[in-house]
Amino acid sequence: MEQSELTQIINKNVSMINLPCIGIKKLLTPFVLIHDKIAIFEAGTTNTAELLLEGLEQLGISPKDVDYLIVSHIHLDHAGGAGYLAQKMPQAKVMVHEKGARHLIDPSRLIAATKKVFGSKDVIKEHYGDIIPIPEEQVIALGDGDKIDLGNGRQTKIIHTPGHAPHHLCLYDPLTNGIFSGEALGILVKDLNMYSPSTPMPDFNLSQSIDSILRLLAYDIQIIYLSHAGYTRQVQDTIYKIIGQLICWEKIIKDSPEKEAAENLKAYVLQKEWPQWNTTALAKEHNLEDNIKWLTWRIGAVLAPGIKNSCKKS
Ligand SMILES: [Zn+2]
Repeated sequence: MEQSELTQIINKNVSMINLPCIGIKKLLTPFVLIHDKIAIFEAGTTNTAELLLEGLEQLGISPKDVDYLIVSHIHLDHAGGAGYLAQKMPQAKVMVHEKGARHLIDPSRLIAATKKVFGSKDVIKEHYGDIIPIPEEQVIALGDGDKIDLGNGRQTKIIHTPGHAPHHLCLYDPLTNGIFSGEALGILVKDLNMYSPSTPMPDFNLSQSIDSILRLLAYDIQIIYLSHAGYTRQVQDTIYKIIGQLICWEKIIKDSPEKEAAENLKAYVLQKEWPQWNTTALAKEHNLEDNIKWLTWRIGAVLAPGIKNSCKKS
């Protein structure tokens, strides 16, 4: 398979663009579905939008030829760059679950919610860039079961998969027997062979998340395209692993005294899930120390509180 740092051809119908995010290399991978029509799954941030366009160029695609820009959900690492790209891709419809559509048209609440996680508007700008509103007529709101026709018999299907966020969606592609999983199946750090559920504050819902994952089992899936970051053909293992992790993580949070929950989860993950004969050494060897730092920060600051919050709701 042809490969560059920025782009990778996965199969003749799907290519991938490697984008950095919050200082981590290859953290978000928009996928390009190439057929009679061209669709891009995930926008990345405004800060990485020009890099995405460069990736498209490498794949021989002009932004003017893009028909659909689909986002799995509206968190800024997935959809923050959609407004900028919508201007560069005047033909493209920006597609999002119906519960997220109004936030792309008017991103003010989205910015406020992200600010809660990062603490200041400047930090948002530094990580994601300006969030540009998208004209209403360019946005299409999607619901469960909707089809996106890429022409010549390739009909992809929207699967509403709440859990990570209430408006999260996955896209099923019968041509490649692939599922574009967004963040519903967690995140993958391929170089470290690491998996992590993605359970962020404030909207994560554990039982919905597991229900959504189980719904995917009804589809004939041979490849999972993960927005963070890459793809895997180990479908069954991945699905079982992520469900197992979600159940274990919840148990640790529930069994821990309130103040110790995040630390206990971090310790468990580093010892039991990512031991790889000393994760830190492996990270050093691969020059991925920032990834480990980021993943462990994320467990304490974002994922453990998300699970705690979800326990309160149920
Ligand atoms: Zn997200």
